[in-house]
Amino acid sequence: MNRSITILGAGLVGSVLSVLLRKKGYEVTIYERRPDLRVSQIGAGRSINLAMSTRGWKALELAGLREEIESIAIPMTGRYLHQDDGSAAFQPYGKNGEAIYSVSRGELNKKLMDLAEANGVKIYFNQICDHVDLQHKQLHLKDEAGNKHTVDYDLLFGADGAFSALRKSMTVLDRTDYQQFYINSGYKELCIPPSANGEFCMEHNALHIWPRHNFMMIGLPNTDKSFTCTLFFPFEGTPSFDSLQTDAEIRAFFEQHFPDAVPMMPTLMEDYKNNPTSSLVTVKVAPWVYQSSACLIGDAAHAIVPFYGQGMNAGFEDCSVLFELLEQHGDNWDAILPAFQQSRKPNADAVAELALNNFIEMRDKVADPKFLERKKIEKDLGIRFAGRFNSVYEMVSFSHTPYAFALNAMAAQDWLLAKIMEQGDYFQNIENATFAAGLEEWVKEYEGKVHA
Ligand code: FAD
Repeated sequence: MNRSITILGAGLVGSVLSVLLRKKGYEVTIYERRPDLRVSQIGAGRSINLAMSTRGWKALELAGLREEIESIAIPMTGRYLHQDDGSAAFQPYGKNGEAIYSVSRGELNKKLMDLAEANGVKIYFNQICDHVDLQHKQLHLKDEAGNKHTVDYDLLFGADGAFSALRKSMTVLDRTDYQQFYINSGYKELCIPPSANGEFCMEHNALHIWPRHNFMMIGLPNTDKSFTCTLFFPFEGTPSFDSLQTDAEIRAFFEQHFPDAVPMMPTLMEDYKNNPTSSLVTVKVAPWVYQSSACLIGDAAHAIVPFYGQGMNAGFEDCSVLFELLEQHGDNWDAILPAFQQSRKPNADAVAELALNNFIEMRDKVADPKFLERKKIEKDLGIRFAGRFNSVYEMVSFSHTPYAFALNAMAAQDWLLAKIMEQGDYFQNIENATFAAGLEEWVKEYEGKVHA
């Protein structure tokens, strides 16, 4: 076959994919809608931070990019929980000090584009794809000045994000399933700048979270010693983006719910009023592949809500799986693309579910003493039954365990932990030989459920 591949979108997934395809000797060309981020400023309020975890690092490693990205990433070994009364507590994520890594989406994207170009990828900016003629293998593009032109492709990857033009062209085809839904909360970026002496205002090796039942704020550290905060908040109701209208209402709301954060947020009012309010979408589509000539990847195939910190990680895992299939099947795209879809689609559906579920866990449960107790028991089980029990959070964030397996394990863990917690104080009970023997049986039953 012709060894040239076209990618739509020089975002995170398109850039990593391009490097992996170059490693396999393909000529790679990307068409990107936006101007080059490296020469134009990103707008205020768009400085999202992402948590990179094990799946993301694997793709970067395969592409030879890990070291470069590590230089702009900050490890976070746990959640730093800020309670309503201003008190705070630290919850480690893993049992062995594992970390997820905070990285600025803009900085990461810029670096990935630099590295893609250094690897010989050609990127054309200001090229908006209007639609794709799948039958004739043609991209219909519009440039900055509004001039339209077409580009022929041999094999096309749509890495063009949650509102993908390739996906739109695929969904008008016969027998394409498509689902898109929004949750009733949106988000707004806020900021905690460095302190007057240029230091972080809070512990920087942690993800800060202010859970407040049906809304929450999180804060992730940046390399310039600031924190990017994100308020996840209902669009309507009380309180909501809709209900906070006047300066007095906005200030009173933050002072009531985030009393320890407000003194660290000198630009709170400007940020709240000027930064955009954005929505959160989940997208499911099938198939991902058109014949052997077009394929969706990353958010274009499976946009999810951000509450498990897995959107990019899942997209990067798509890239690793595709790379491994290339190793297995050489240039045989007739075999690679269906195998890719078969491997990834059930996992994409599962992580969508896990992410929606984690919104409730983060905003509602993390401050609940029962939940904290459960986390401690999970950790102990992970040590006591090493190799047999691993919490769902650890499976998702610190392993390559398929998401579909983790989702299945979630129900089984709910069953196991409910059984254990019904018996009263676990840490006292575990000293008792009869309880320990019973626990061994429950864990066996748990394993049966998980591997069913
Ligand atoms: P995108 O990053 O959206 O890139 C798509 C690219 O395609 C863009 O450059 C775009 O300009 C271009 N494009 C779009 N349409 C066209 C067109 N018609 N023609 C040409 N080019 C086009 N993920 C995590 O793993 N961890 C996190 O902690 C995390 N936190 C998040 C927090 C928030 C608030 C949000 C909103 C998302 C978060 N995510 C997180 C998800 C993550 O941002 C996405 O999953 C990731 O950016 C997807 O990468 P992508 O390359 O598939 O899509």
